[in-house]
Amino acid sequence: MTIKTPIYMDNSATTQCDPRVVDKMVRYFAEDFGNAASRNHAFGWQAESAVDQAREEVALLLGAHPKEIVFTSGSTEANNLAIKGVAEMYASKGRHLISCVTEHKAVIDPLKHLEQQGYEVTWLEVDGMGRIDLEALRGAIRPDTILVSLMAANNETGTAHPIAEIGALCKERGVLFHTDATQVVGRMPIDVQSQGIDLLSLSAHKFYGPKGVGALYVRRKSPRVRLAPLMDGGGHERGMRSGTLNVPGIAGMGEAARLAREEFDQNVAKVQALRDRLEQGILAGLPDAVVNGDTEHRLPHLSNISFPYVEGESMIMGIKDVAVSSGSACTSASLEPSYVLKSLGLGDELAHSSIRFSVGRFNTEEEVDFVVDLVVREVTRLREMSPLWEMVQEGIDLSKVKWTHH
Ligand SMILES: *Cc1c(COP(=O)(O)O)cnc(C)c1O
Repeated sequence: MTIKTPIYMDNSATTQCDPRVVDKMVRYFAEDFGNAASRNHAFGWQAESAVDQAREEVALLLGAHPKEIVFTSGSTEANNLAIKGVAEMYASKGRHLISCVTEHKAVIDPLKHLEQQGYEVTWLEVDGMGRIDLEALRGAIRPDTILVSLMAANNETGTAHPIAEIGALCKERGVLFHTDATQVVGRMPIDVQSQGIDLLSLSAHKFYGPKGVGALYVRRKSPRVRLAPLMDGGGHERGMRSGTLNVPGIAGMGEAARLAREEFDQNVAKVQALRDRLEQGILAGLPDAVVNGDTEHRLPHLSNISFPYVEGESMIMGIKDVAVSSGSACTSASLEPSYVLKSLGLGDELAHSSIRFSVGRFNTEEEVDFVVDLVVREVTRLREMSPLWEMVQEGIDLSKVKWTHH
């Protein structure tokens, strides 16, 4: 059995569009190319009916009503709309928001933007597994708090927050709750009713749909959430998101949502078995590798592993037959260790030496075995060249070493 390389194991960055999704989209580029807002002819009606169908599928996936779905260009836009839209609309009630240091930049940066405009944000810290403290959240809520924004599960570590408990707490205190659920759609159960969610962001390309299309769920009843739009224009999406709808993308997202719902159990079982095989294989071959994040409450497809005494970038080079993410974010000038891993208490060294493996339903057991073998071989080889590893093998306790700095 030959394996085709490179092997894709970066499904938290994006997923391959399902061929059934592509099939669904094609006709809306060519034959049925109408504008969903055109009310006077069949071209428009066809497009509108495709959008209606997709809206229903996305709503079904979340346990929502179709009228509560606002299509966007993805989760970045959905997060911006939720956060800035609530901040502007509810400013007379208060100007305080609560979030967490491990959120995606698409939540952190809109909140920082608000801070510059005079809003106040409480940034909850996390423990060594990336978990928030519910009592700290309870204590942070004030009479002027208008929004709690906490992600359903983290894109780097996989740690899942207790969404239903957070939702119940927000409800009890009369505060709106937004969750960036980009990573959990199709991977963990979501139900906006039982989980007490008022606003939820999702992005099609994270669940085998096309890129550049997503949605924001906006609660319509108890309470009815009102949002100021980011853009003014033709008043599409009940005035919350103007602009001609991306009909092919939305049709594709609807199909991806249907597949995610109908094939949920088998997809989760498959990625979880692959992830566990990968993680157990790596840990068996490299006993001092460390799994980061909460290994109990986490995404089923992701494993973030630190390889002490090995530098992450050398790792990525060494295992270039497999597409993964490292614990360093390549910014323009420097190699910054991941802020998410650092907030779990990992030192720069360990953060730099970590790799995020995220499998998908198109991966196979053969690919996982190939990757395990490659990673174990490569880490072993790189360690043999590491002076630190040599000292550890000689029984030297590195924490007691007095380093001289030059
Ligand atoms: C991918 C991702 C986003 C951004 O989604 P886009 O489709 O790029 O806008 C936001 N939040 C999380 C948690 C993500 O994983």
